[in-house]
Amino acid sequence: MLYNYTEAIVLQTLNSILDKYKLTNQDLCTCERCRQDVMAIALNNLPAHYVVTETGRIITQVSAEQLGGKAMVIAQILKAIEIVHKNPQH
Ligand SMILES: [Zn+2]
Repeated sequence: MLYNYTEAIVLQTLNSILDKYKLTNQDLCTCERCRQDVMAIALNNLPAHYVVTETGRIITQVSAEQLGGKAMVIAQILKAIEIVHKNPQH
């Protein structure tokens, strides 16, 4: 089974970044649609990194560093949140 490691990292970090962003931007919508939009934008701007898993277990371990570091992932998520915040798709 193919598994996009980048997606896992984005999913893992998205909530905490959204929570922080909301502290200073209380009008930010965090409904399912907006979350998906944020994820789509961030993932399109990050390199996909596929690994092969067997029964849900990741065989090839990839660290966040190989994706340009966690800082890059966080930066792209923040950028995506700002885009969705300014232009919600609903
Ligand atoms: Zn929304």
